Amino acid sequence: MSAPNIETIVSLAKRRGFVFPASDIYGGLGSSWDYGSLGVELANNIKQSWWRWLVHERDDIEGLDSSIIQNRLVWKYSGHEATFSDPLVDCRKCQSRFRADKLEHPKISDNVETQKAFEQTPIEELIAIKEFPCPNCGSTDLTAPRPFNLMFRTTVGAASSDEDETALAYLRPETAQGIFIKFANVLNTSRRKLPFGIAQIGKAFRNEVTPGNFIFRTREFEQMEMEYFCRPEDAPRIFEEFIDGFQKWFHSLGISAENLKLYEQSKEELAHYAERTVDILYRFFPEREDEEKQFDELMGIANRKDFDLKAHSKKPEDAEGKRINSDSTEDLSYFDEATKQRFYPYVIEPAVGVNRTLLAILMDAYSEKTNDKGETRVILKLKPELAPIKVAVLPLAKNKPEIVAMAKDLKRKLLPAMRTVYDDTGGIGKLYARQDEIGTPFCVTVDHESLEDNAVTVRDRDTWEQERVNVSELKDYLQKRLS
Ligand code: ATP
Repeated sequence: MSAPNIETIVSLAKRRGFVFPASDIYGGLGSSWDYGSLGVELANNIKQSWWRWLVHERDDIEGLDSSIIQNRLVWKYSGHEATFSDPLVDCRKCQSRFRADKLEHPKISDNVETQKAFEQTPIEELIAIKEFPCPNCGSTDLTAPRPFNLMFRTTVGAASSDEDETALAYLRPETAQGIFIKFANVLNTSRRKLPFGIAQIGKAFRNEVTPGNFIFRTREFEQMEMEYFCRPEDAPRIFEEFIDGFQKWFHSLGISAENLKLYEQSKEELAHYAERTVDILYRFFPEREDEEKQFDELMGIANRKDFDLKAHSKKPEDAEGKRINSDSTEDLSYFDEATKQRFYPYVIEPAVGVNRTLLAILMDAYSEKTNDKGETRVILKLKPELAPIKVAVLPLAKNKPEIVAMAKDLKRKLLPAMRTVYDDTGGIGKLYARQDEIGTPFCVTVDHESLEDNAVTVRDRDTWEQERVNVSELKDYLQKRLS
């Protein structure tokens, strides 16, 4: 089977209650999505896996949950007020809006040299000389690109009006800054020494100019970010370790290596504070002809140097004599007891999107299989750790009270150990198909014989193989196979 595209996943997600369009009874709200009962379980399982792996198992990372709305000065000194923007272009003819940095050069000539020269000209210049057509209507009457800040504005407290600058605040566009400004608190209360990390999971908001592709790019999304503080000389090695570690983590979630790719950002692409950034890309768009364009960012790993801790520190000037912070009351430097030196640690930041990870997992788990009647069935081959429901208990005959009672009793007994559901709203074939489609690893069927031999049939989602298991051993048997 060819890889599923995002549309296949959108339809499965809606049909089975993973993800729904938000506000749809009022006409929706562009690119906003709500997570249904299965979606929220899957997202929680992803977040738990990340947290367990980084915060619990490594033992050198602390957790944090900082505020979504912070003092506006956080975003002044982080640089977001001045620079967190996309270059926006308007078409004067059809009124559509585009990000200049995402526009692709159209084909203007069959002559390779002419086309190459054209492609080397920046979009801004082409717009200025009216050589760039609107991707929507073809008009060359476009406005010059202008910066559009992506932060959502709000007011805090009883502001006199929305224009009241003294009450202005922002919804955080990333969770990272909440970590930097708490560096000293966590360091002092946890009594950590370098190197150590601070991890946070939470919502972030960006007023994206062109959201879309389902949950790939939305204006409200969730991030799992970790800031790892270290000595400058250790940063390159730690950077490499996280590239390797995160690829392994994605594999452990069932994402296949062939759908992942590393992308090293060029000098021109790097954010001004970053020494190096490597993105881990996923094949989100398998339907695109050009293999390179099939991949897009799943996460980024950045060496942010000491930019953020310095920027938020009470400091008259930095080494170059600029970037004065006259508002912070704290110095976020680190004192090394061994060398008696004070310095600003370097930061390695692996930043993952929960939503993009969930999408990648659904795409990679999606498969189709033909049953012996020649019907195509969808199987979501989720890792058991991630499956929203671990076991479904199904009675073979719902009109037989003893069978129903035994099945419901089994469900109650399994529930404290694993998420279990009971379903009798269809024939057994339909019930199996329903569970396969949402990735439930095991179905347990209670039949007439079960009443005699106290055993049930356990059916495996991926192989459809069935095994007879005694009820007294069922919980252990399932726990073993789920782990
Ligand atoms: P992009 O280039 O796709 O806009 P970015 O490089 O700005 O992403 P980061 O600031 O590095 O993204 O954020 C870290 C992660 O957060 C991304 O790798 C992605 O998984 C997720 N993310 C960022 N923006 C969005 C969004 N608008 N919708 C969903 N997830 C997002």
